Amino acid sequence: MAEIFSKMVSCSHEELIFVQDSCAKLRGIIGIHSTVLGPSLGGLRVWNYGSEQEAIEDVLRLSEGMTYKAAAANLKIGGGKAVIIADPHKDKTPELFRAMGRFVERLNGRYITAEDVGTSVDDMEYLRETTQYVTGTKADEGGSGDPSPTTANGVFESIQVCVEEVMGTDSLKGIRVAVQGVGHVGYLLCRNLHKSGAELVISDVHAPNIERGKKDFGAEVVSADDIYSQEVDVFAPCALGAVINDGTIPRLKCRIVAGAANNQLADTRKHGRALHDMGILYAPDYVANAGGLINIYYRDILGKPCSEEAWSPTGIYENMKKVIEISKSENIPTFEAANRLAMSRIKEAQHDKSNVN
Ligand code: NAD
Repeated sequence: MAEIFSKMVSCSHEELIFVQDSCAKLRGIIGIHSTVLGPSLGGLRVWNYGSEQEAIEDVLRLSEGMTYKAAAANLKIGGGKAVIIADPHKDKTPELFRAMGRFVERLNGRYITAEDVGTSVDDMEYLRETTQYVTGTKADEGGSGDPSPTTANGVFESIQVCVEEVMGTDSLKGIRVAVQGVGHVGYLLCRNLHKSGAELVISDVHAPNIERGKKDFGAEVVSADDIYSQEVDVFAPCALGAVINDGTIPRLKCRIVAGAANNQLADTRKHGRALHDMGILYAPDYVANAGGLINIYYRDILGKPCSEEAWSPTGIYENMKKVIEISKSENIPTFEAANRLAMSRIKEAQHDKSNVN
């Protein structure tokens, strides 16, 4: 037990709540990292963890990440996350989610849940039966629905900022962008880029998605492995995490890395520093891909209606500019600058609160 407390202390976690319901076969953990900026918000992950320790570490790491993502996006929400230890392919039942919802409800809004790996909009609907503190429910029933358009808009704004910074132009005409993964976000990002006159190189492992990208945007198609070594201005990872690693960094021929995928840097410090030293501008992933969270914030938390264009602009343009400014003025890699920006917003709020008290 002492070890868990020392972990919580070292990263300033506020609460870790263990929940169980044997009838529903629920074993879950809710992590509230910070409520300094507002109620904690973050997805509910269903995962077949190898051990309870693994699940604890995941919920602590993920809830802390949400605090940074929200703070960097300048949203008045904190960071939280929940996990259920179960196989998402075999163990999910309506009762499992209803039981989890009852525990979320008891927290009186200090934690608000949403979809994550292993959960879907349908699962959120079961949670909604027992708690009001759930987001990401069906769009046709008043929920925030698919976050991908807002995510794609935010990544597009990040690319605009990076191109202005590196290439000194506010036009994307003729800028070459390699998009890895043209699924929900990657496809919509390609649409924005194509409209702005950018040239596209794409890769995917799902043939229909490749065909769609080729047909709709005249994109050049390369293999999943060749995408790293393309002579392009921007590499946009929109598929998997950890794609910037020891093996891929020496192959990169781009000047900017800016995409939607979570945790793009296999080792944040090492590979974030490596890109910086090579003169490749990295748009920190949690700043660039915060559109999903922004969508939930405006639609579910503030209750504002959303147009087809989904919060465009998202505000990510200004945030990314600030990150680059900090990186230049302090001569630090952008991932570190993003952390500093997020921390400064949290400290400011802490200061305001202590002045009021
Ligand atoms: P998606 O599953 O719709 O699309 C991913 C695409 O990548 C698919 O077309 C898949 O076939 C392709 N792919 C998988 N492996 C590949 C490989 N090795 N090489 C090339 N392509 C490959 O997912 P999405 O919702 O578009 O999300 C994309 C990324 O962005 C994920 O990492 C996700 O965690 C992150 N993200 C998404 C959102 C969102 O709003 N959807 C928000 C934040 C972060």
